[in-house]
Amino acid sequence: MDEFAMGSSNENSAFGPVKNPLDLQRVPGGSSGGSAAAVACGMVNMALGSDTGGSIRQPAAFCGIYGLKPTYGTVSRYGLVAFASSADQIGPLTADLQDNALLLEVLCGYDPKDSTSADKPAFKAENLDAKDFTVGIPSDFLKDLNPEILACVNAAKENLSKKGVKFKEISMPYCKYASPCYYILTSSEASSNLARFDGLRYGYKDNSAEDLEESYLKDRAKFGPEVKRRIMLGTFSLGSAHAEDYYLKAQKVRNLIKNDFVEAFKQVDAVLLPATPNTAFKIGEKVNDLISLYLSDLYTAPANIAGVPALSFPYGKDSKGLPVGLQLYGNFFDEAKLYALAGLLEK
Ligand code: GLN
Repeated sequence: MDEFAMGSSNENSAFGPVKNPLDLQRVPGGSSGGSAAAVACGMVNMALGSDTGGSIRQPAAFCGIYGLKPTYGTVSRYGLVAFASSADQIGPLTADLQDNALLLEVLCGYDPKDSTSADKPAFKAENLDAKDFTVGIPSDFLKDLNPEILACVNAAKENLSKKGVKFKEISMPYCKYASPCYYILTSSEASSNLARFDGLRYGYKDNSAEDLEESYLKDRAKFGPEVKRRIMLGTFSLGSAHAEDYYLKAQKVRNLIKNDFVEAFKQVDAVLLPATPNTAFKIGEKVNDLISLYLSDLYTAPANIAGVPALSFPYGKDSKGLPVGLQLYGNFFDEAKLYALAGLLEK
């Protein structure tokens, strides 16, 4: 995985990059790229990931498997190293759709040791009839989408329509701001969460340091460049001179994005989106283009910003033969509907 779950390509791993088993020159996605690669090449049937902005769903899409980011509060994070506490969720990556639902059933449930754990009846893998569902497509959020991926969205729509599912044009005007909003909020939270990695209680310890300041300098220097970048960005966004312009503004944008979903789910059972703006890219291709790397989360980050569940599933290939991943977004605690719709597609 990428260090502290920060990354979209696995190139930030301290142990070297994981390769995509479908094409060894390409990334498996990130941050949970190792989990996705292990499932995609058949080493295991299922693996876990943590998803703060797409780290389960984007690697699942790049490797042609299923990945679910559950509703915030569904799976206990007791024992998970925190990246951004208001967004982190653990979820299943699997080769098979039904396994995904079964693994979620095992994982979820109220845990008094996690103060954000939802005190609700736990998810049960059940067979809902998805035929009468209505699915929304937000064309305003799909503007400029890669035509090969758009073709897969349209093919899925056609397939579901044939099986009786109704479609509705909806608008999600604020989702296009998901990436900047996500990177400000999660870097702010990360800068606070990672303060404990000071070599005294957590993290690397260099015993050659002569005094406290040198110890801090040596131990915190061990973070990789991406982690340092996030700590600096987060510390900047939270600082009293800038919080109004960055952190607090991003919080307001978060509410607007969340509201896009609240409005959508008044009209539809699920929203159909791509999982990623592009298919798996080459190792090294985006290391000097961070903005484009950060934009790989465009379609996944809104689920974490809003707290709603989203399922990434393979649907079609691009002209290079690489898997295309699509997503179904659901209302809070509506995971069963997402599995039912994906099940219809699989038939
Ligand atoms: N790619 C995103 C990031 O770099 C998502 C990471 C995640 O979900 N853990 O922050």
